[in-house]
Amino acid sequence: MKNIFKNFAVFFLVFAIIAAIFSLYSNKIEKPEEMNLGQLVQEIQNEQIKSIQVKGNQLDITLNDGSNRISKKESGESLTTLLSNYGVSPEKISRLELTVGEEANSTFSFSSLLPFLIPALFILGMIWFMMRQVQGVNNRAMTFGQSGAKLADQKTKVTFKDVAGAKEAKEDLQEIVEFLKSPQKFLDLGAKIPKGVLLLGSPGTGKTLLSRAVAGEAKVPFFHISGSEFVEMFVGVGASRVRDLFKKAKKASPCIIFIDEIDAVGRQRGSGLGGSHDEREQTLNQILTEMDGFDNQTNVIVLAATNRHDVLDPALLRPGRFDRQVVIDMPDIKDREEILNIHAKGKPMQKNVDLKRVAQRTPGFSGADLANVLNEAAIMTARKNEKIISQETVLDSIEKVMLGPERKSHILSDKEKKTTAYHEAGHAVVAHYLEHADPVHKISIISRGRAAGYTINLPEEDKKMHSYEDFIDDMAVLLGGRMAEKIFCHEVTTGASNDLERATAIARSLITQFGMNEKLGFRTFGKKEEMVFLGKEIHERRDYSEKTAESIDHEISNYVQQAAQSAEKIIREHKEQMEKIVSVLMEKETIEKEEFDNLVA
Ligand code: ADP
Ligand code: MG
Ligand code: ZN
Repeated sequence: MKNIFKNFAVFFLVFAIIAAIFSLYSNKIEKPEEMNLGQLVQEIQNEQIKSIQVKGNQLDITLNDGSNRISKKESGESLTTLLSNYGVSPEKISRLELTVGEEANSTFSFSSLLPFLIPALFILGMIWFMMRQVQGVNNRAMTFGQSGAKLADQKTKVTFKDVAGAKEAKEDLQEIVEFLKSPQKFLDLGAKIPKGVLLLGSPGTGKTLLSRAVAGEAKVPFFHISGSEFVEMFVGVGASRVRDLFKKAKKASPCIIFIDEIDAVGRQRGSGLGGSHDEREQTLNQILTEMDGFDNQTNVIVLAATNRHDVLDPALLRPGRFDRQVVIDMPDIKDREEILNIHAKGKPMQKNVDLKRVAQRTPGFSGADLANVLNEAAIMTARKNEKIISQETVLDSIEKVMLGPERKSHILSDKEKKTTAYHEAGHAVVAHYLEHADPVHKISIISRGRAAGYTINLPEEDKKMHSYEDFIDDMAVLLGGRMAEKIFCHEVTTGASNDLERATAIARSLITQFGMNEKLGFRTFGKKEEMVFLGKEIHERRDYSEKTAESIDHEISNYVQQAAQSAEKIIREHKEQMEKIVSVLMEKETIEKEEFDNLVA
């Protein structure tokens, strides 16, 4: 509405300016020449004048040749008296057509006023604009404390059907749906309706989706706000936004408030430094106060999501607050297939597309990753100007999501290519001959993302737990690349730096987190703490002596050394297979699982 007014004002201004210019211009053309009374008398004497129109003191004169002049006379005296005073004879006067018109001033009005009107209008417009601007600032200041929570629209409604897998989470949340639908049933039995539910799960596992589904199932309004939206530059805003949000929600009851990424405000209080910290604390306190203030009649349930359970303030988890916790796991192979099926809807696929195979190939993928895989496949297909998505495209997009896009332009020299081939073959051969390592699914020397080549090993089934042997073999596989370079190319490259980093990290967590090293014993070393000071910083607190630190370093080196030795042994024992794999790689650039199994058989 305001915009319409604004547009109208602008339009009007422009119009007025154009009109003004036009009228000035046209006035100039029409304006007749002026003559003084002496000249007029002269012309009358010469019988050049046809008619004179008298408008008050102004004389509009028409000459015999049709042209116009104007002149002025003194007020008070009539033109005839004036002319005879000048000595014009009565016959000559009577021959003139004399008419007396209206006072000129009244016809003078609009066109002559415009030049004054325009600037005035212009200034008024300016003032008006400025007023509006100031008002805008005021308005913004007024809405500052409002929550800005978005009310989900009812059209794109999500229900539990749109969420694949997560069976237990759905069961837990089904209860919440019933609380929202028929609270009286529970109240009659004296049960207290839970106020807060915390959804815990890694990014992309569908926390946001599930909470939307709860609202959709219960058919109640859904207020959505992200934890970070509470905290702004100004102190006190967070708390007032919380107040506003809960006020709105209570009006709309029964309803759901969903606070996404609650760890942004719900971090442990009293840790960290910096100004934003107080603000967070106040916001969190306000949330807790509001939740404590719910009585049995307010049927508002607060859902909150986080992937950082460990940093949450214990006060949030107390009974009467977020005492219910729903854990959403990474999807297993069956869930992945279901998720893929949901997202395959509306995407035309060839008959041979086997989503089960895709699910097998994507352990560790979250629901969001899987949705992304199918989306990438659709995009790739469209870019190839094809109408139907093929299996290859889908498998290709898995790698794209996992490792980044292919870099066809990143052309390796033949020597680099050969080194990469040996490197990847080394990983693959070591993985194949070690019992606890994951089987090889694909080897490629096409660069993707930051890697020059890649080997994909996938477990036969999803693993929830890892054994000591798994870690030992994984380290050997990681070192296989570097050892193959050393044995076959007699030089080592930078291509292995990421492998070494990962192997070292495994060795470290084996000792410090899992207590799997016998010399150092069954305990953990170090405590991870998060400091909030000028941004985020993970900081490890040492809870062990310098001497222990030395032994840890020593043991880490030992593990990596041992891994290198066992990798070297395996590669030396299977030189023949290595050469075969490398020659195929040099020719075709990629080897799939079946072909690899044949080559090493
Ligand atoms: P989170 O909030 O846990 O980070 P989201 O709920 O935002 O994750 O999920 C992102 C997207 O991933 C969803 O919009 C949906 O398309 C997809 N997705 C995730 N989990 C599932 C699932 N279990 N079923 C179907 N789609 C899912
Ligand atoms: Mg989310
Ligand atoms: Zn490598």
